[in-house]
Amino acid sequence: MNVPMLDLAAEYRDLEAELSGAIGKVFASGRFILGPEVEALEREVAGYLGVAHAVAVASGTDALHLALRAAGIGPGDDVVTPSFTFIAAAEAVSHAGARVVFADIDPATYNLDPAAFEAAITPATRAVIAVHLFGQTADLAAISAICARRGLRLIEDCAQAIGADFDGRRAGAWGALGCFSFYPTKNLGAYGDAGMVVTNDPGLADSVRMLRHHGSRTAYRHEVIGYNSRLDELQAAILRVKLKRLERWNARRREHAALYRRLLAGAPFGLPAEHRRGAHVYHQFTVRAPMRDALRDQLAARGVASAIYYPLPVHWQPVYGAEPGKLSLPASEQAAREVLSLPIYPQLTEAQVRRVCEALAAAAAQARVR
Ligand SMILES: *Cc1c(COP(=O)(O)O)cnc(C)c1O
Repeated sequence: MNVPMLDLAAEYRDLEAELSGAIGKVFASGRFILGPEVEALEREVAGYLGVAHAVAVASGTDALHLALRAAGIGPGDDVVTPSFTFIAAAEAVSHAGARVVFADIDPATYNLDPAAFEAAITPATRAVIAVHLFGQTADLAAISAICARRGLRLIEDCAQAIGADFDGRRAGAWGALGCFSFYPTKNLGAYGDAGMVVTNDPGLADSVRMLRHHGSRTAYRHEVIGYNSRLDELQAAILRVKLKRLERWNARRREHAALYRRLLAGAPFGLPAEHRRGAHVYHQFTVRAPMRDALRDQLAARGVASAIYYPLPVHWQPVYGAEPGKLSLPASEQAAREVLSLPIYPQLTEAQVRRVCEALAAAAAQARVR
């Protein structure tokens, strides 16, 4: 029995009839960019998250970039962000013309360490991008308190955490702006690129709306230099079909995580820690193993897929020019050496989870993980 990282074809088989109806309606309407499906999706996502405004954009990366610009962040400003994550948050800061200041993570949760965030604040710091990595929010109470005390904007990167919450408030509803990705492999995925910015501030929502459409509020009147970052009706129609299943799918991911935990208890791997102040949506189930690369090869030989998110911390990426040793973020650097993400997705079966764990046990023996 082979186990892939993800099975989007199986998901499609379950939804085929409903999706065909939804996209057929769009084809027949003749409206393809920013129409009724996008507006309905914005209303539904805002309702689901408990926020006042949602603005659909072309990708999660654009969501971050437009959020920063709407917040007025640009040249001369510093923005703090964790280094152990996907590059998009740092990239968005650079595109906005601001300087990225990398801070270290809490090694237990892989999320921004509030103390490291506070220590990274400079006189030029205007904002922090808190990334909710692998499906669990960062410590939003501590990070929000620092932002309030130091007069900084909190922007949330919720690309991996749609539906997660902290103290009963959902990811995206804590910050000045929350940014989502609907990249196909995310917990809520489109059939192409898509993203969204959410906020409770009508002024910020208005700015993002203007920026996504060439800096224009009214047709052919352009107030700022904006972008073409609109969402199309087909993706919105597809996302609306899937949004109805999101709660059930996230619950299923939690069930798989619980089974992994049970089966891997006592195994020589570090299991992902939960902060226990809200739901984890298990975008990834990530273990730690000192002999990670050997383990991964052994798993592959047994037909079990696994993935490394992320092999190189962002402060070590060639584009950020920091050769190892220049800036030291030990928790991020160690995580990059040790993490291994196992298959977790709603359509995974209990038998497949068991197969992964058997393969892990055999692989660990072979790789001589102590
Ligand atoms: C996927 C992802 C993004 C970027 O989203 P895109 O839609 O691919 O542009 C940003 N941040 C994190 C943490 C992600 O996982």
